[in-house]
Amino acid sequence: MTQQLIVTDARKCERSYKLSCLFPPSKPRVYLWPEDESVMDNFFRRWARPVKAYREVMPAVLKKAGLEDTVKFRWSQKAGCSCGCSPGFILQMSKYSNFDIHADIKVVEGVVK
Ligand SMILES: [Zn+2]
Repeated sequence: MTQQLIVTDARKCERSYKLSCLFPPSKPRVYLWPEDESVMDNFFRRWARPVKAYREVMPAVLKKAGLEDTVKFRWSQKAGCSCGCSPGFILQMSKYSNFDIHADIKVVEGVVK
């Protein structure tokens, strides 16, 4: 049985803090949240995400969040925190965009068109 990763939702979230010297401008981050994942599972899997499969759904994530699906991105284990606990994609666009994207993803059986 083949499995496929699909994007169920993607939200563009304005950052709640104001840019300051404590929070210097940084490029938008994209965090993917697997559905049906417990808090514990999430904690233990943070350092072993299926990055290749994540890359493949990124155009869908960008589109759902209202962005061009051609925006370049790169995976970073340290996207959200310098200790590596919050991996995600960093969008290669204007570093003054004050938002991040949170996307819900899930694994489905078979191939969804
Ligand atoms: Zn951390």
